[in-house]
Amino acid sequence: MRIYNTKTRRKEEFKPIEEGKVGIYVCGPTVYDFIHIGNARPMIVFDTLRRYFEHKGYEVNYVSNFTDVDDKIINRSIEEGIPAAEVSEKYIAECKKDMEALNVRPATVHPQATKEIPEMIDMVSKLIDKGHAYEKNGTVYFRVRSFEPYGKLSHKNIDDLESGHRAESHALKVTGEDEKEDALDFVLWKPKKEGEPSWVSPWGDGRPGWHLECSCMSKKYVGDTLDIHAGGEDLIFPHHENEIAQSEAANGCEFANYWMHNAFLKINGEKMAKSLGNFFTVRDICQQYDPQVIRFFMLSAQYRTPLNFSKELIEDASRGLERIINGAEKLKGIAENKKGILLSEDEKLVLENDVPGYIDRFDEAMDDDLNTADAISVIFEFVRFTNSKTDENSSADFAASLLRVLEELSEKVLGIKLERKADDVDDSLVQQIEALIAERTAAKKEKNFARADEIRNQLADMGIIIEDTREGVKWKKA
Ligand code: AMP
Ligand code: ZN
Repeated sequence: MRIYNTKTRRKEEFKPIEEGKVGIYVCGPTVYDFIHIGNARPMIVFDTLRRYFEHKGYEVNYVSNFTDVDDKIINRSIEEGIPAAEVSEKYIAECKKDMEALNVRPATVHPQATKEIPEMIDMVSKLIDKGHAYEKNGTVYFRVRSFEPYGKLSHKNIDDLESGHRAESHALKVTGEDEKEDALDFVLWKPKKEGEPSWVSPWGDGRPGWHLECSCMSKKYVGDTLDIHAGGEDLIFPHHENEIAQSEAANGCEFANYWMHNAFLKINGEKMAKSLGNFFTVRDICQQYDPQVIRFFMLSAQYRTPLNFSKELIEDASRGLERIINGAEKLKGIAENKKGILLSEDEKLVLENDVPGYIDRFDEAMDDDLNTADAISVIFEFVRFTNSKTDENSSADFAASLLRVLEELSEKVLGIKLERKADDVDDSLVQQIEALIAERTAAKKEKNFARADEIRNQLADMGIIIEDTREGVKWKKA
């Protein structure tokens, strides 16, 4: 597999540290509110990366944190008059519900910053001992100039950064960081303020800086060197640059071999962000659309391509997914038929000669830096192919074999379930619909077509569309 590595700015052949295993760390959300669909992009994309590695036979250790101590969480707790821990626990639970709806599998571990404080204190102590950090009035800073490769991920020049920062010296006074040795230095540990959560440390009561959290949690749950570190492209600088500085200075080895960054989900050409107020929560969007459509939409673009969120594109995605589901349902219908038709020679040849080519092309697309857009095109072609190769005379085994391929690629690898959202139609309505359908079938048998049409219209007025298929009458919401 070839992966575009932000560090080297080119696609590289992926080589794991240990044969057959991959360790991945993905920066997770700060939990002070419901996640928005921009936050869902890295979740869906890197969950798909994990699934693809598994499809290729790797054992994957997939770690993604929750940042549960942060200014935004503290502000929320003050606004709502509840402890910060209650705010973060509530939104972790809500985030997990959204992940489940989007078929994002739980990580191997979801560490939380507040539960890893001893490890953080250890790392800060080590950095101080090695001369990479210093304490001033209860704040510990990382000494950026002590880490020579600083800027290697974001390709920034340290002197350019310095002159930019000098212009901001007024801002440093405002944040109380004017005691730093150098404007470039960043916070590892900050002292407690009244009413804020804090932990005891050798530098006084306080809390960890955001960058430090990821360095410590990735070290503990993945190792000193990660195969892959991932997140949204806004994290490249300063977050990931600072993680590298901390981890490499403390551990004395390369922090991550491959860095993957997803491009933004945009709205009207602008980044979707809480701070800009132009966001939709996953929760709201899932009320309007099937969450599988959202997942399909996200994967319809390669992850490094900016993706614009619009009603039209979501509706396109919905129609596209519908075509795939229809293809799967046709195969399911044939696979379940009990006509006793045996696998024919022709069908055997199709399975042996034609089908593997689709799987290979799907894998080729995914091997090319997780090109899910091309992989989905292959699925569309495969569905067209299965539609053209199957009819009422096909064998159940043939349809079942084709269905297995479609399920492996769509459901297992891309995580897109080949089923329609369980319609939120209550049981009594379902009974009423089914009774009307039975009555219509009986009317048709008696050649009372006027009554049959009347029932069809009555169902249409109820927002129900019916379809006569070989397997019987099917219905769905309009
Ligand atoms: P945050 O809670 O802001 O730290 O974001 C959590 C994750 O979502 C990070 O990996 C961000 O880079 C990512 N993210 C935030 N907004 C967007 C967006 N509009 N498009 C894609 N990724 C985003
Ligand atoms: Zn991080």
